Amino acid sequence: MGRKPAVYADYNATSPLRTSARAAMLAALEVDGNPSSIHSFGRGARRSIADARTAILTALGVPSYRLIFTSGATEALSILLRPQVGPAGKGAGGSSHLLMLATEHVAALGGHGFPNATTLPVATSGRIDEAAFEAALQGLPDDARPLVCVHGANNETGVLQPLAEIRQRTHEAGGLLVCDLVQWAGRLLIPNPAPDAFVVSAHKLGGPSGVGALVYDPQRVDLGEALIRGGGQERGARAGTENRIGIVGFGAAVSEATAMIAAEAPRVRALRDHFEAALAEQHPEARVFGAEAERLPNTSCVALPGKTASTMLMQLDLDGIAISSGAACSSGKVTASHVLSAMGVAPELAAGALRISFGWASTDEDCDRLVAAFARLA
Ligand code: PLP
Repeated sequence: MGRKPAVYADYNATSPLRTSARAAMLAALEVDGNPSSIHSFGRGARRSIADARTAILTALGVPSYRLIFTSGATEALSILLRPQVGPAGKGAGGSSHLLMLATEHVAALGGHGFPNATTLPVATSGRIDEAAFEAALQGLPDDARPLVCVHGANNETGVLQPLAEIRQRTHEAGGLLVCDLVQWAGRLLIPNPAPDAFVVSAHKLGGPSGVGALVYDPQRVDLGEALIRGGGQERGARAGTENRIGIVGFGAAVSEATAMIAAEAPRVRALRDHFEAALAEQHPEARVFGAEAERLPNTSCVALPGKTASTMLMQLDLDGIAISSGAACSSGKVTASHVLSAMGVAPELAAGALRISFGWASTDEDCDRLVAAFARLA
């Protein structure tokens, strides 16, 4: 009969839908109602959104934070990274400077609304260059209100940033820390204390695509005027009829993913570590990017010197292996990775980078087939 089902190891691009999210969405499809309507249908729809909001805030460990549902993390970052977003209750309004890490996702790098931003370099490990961060803070005027944007976990390498230290220095400098926790949420517990604001995306943790959230501490953050104005939904912070089915699936996925972290994180770490150990035996020249830093348990970014990513991806695809080259966000297009380049990786080597990312449905057999397929790479 036909080919074996493909081995999917591209969870950082998107995760297969979790069982609980699928079931919750199918149940939600059985009922109608606009959450803004007064009648019983509307009240039911409104309740399902309120329940998802509470479930997500509770699962993320930030019950006192506020959550605005958006169409995804890209939109949430666009709302957050605007000059009018600033410290709550100071009256002055807004942030004066944006400081962001060179390895942020393009959604932050290209989506912010500041006239210019200071780019913070990373060390060769992929972690923030702490001396350069300190120098950037010291170089700000005394009355500056910086907005510091640092992602928790990198989508290409899995490298984690020291969020607690960055948060402390940002606060000492009178600023706010906003974090892209898209790859972190559902894989690791949200740091406690949490960043002042952060964004998450449903499809990276087993929910549907097209829904995400901006989560923030209303005691510390003032979002200014809404970006999308109109009907006043989401307490006026984001107009437009809510994506009720998606939100319900998002709520179920966050709850399941968070409840499973203690079991899933060591399991996928073992798969990832097994893959990297086998790769080092098969191809002693292989490079693993970010391996010196703390990383997400599921992610491996590797290159085989002298081999290009597109050729290997085609060969692996014929072998039924679905992985990605570098960032796959707007894929089809293979461009040099700005993340690896910021880590000082030579362009020829970066051109061969492949990203393997495991997740909740990955099995030992998937990992064995991946290892066997890498052994066949000529
Ligand atoms: N931030 C990171 C780290 C990502 O990996 C992605 C998606 O690839 C995004 C932001 C954008 O998320 P969304 O697809 O929800 O807009």
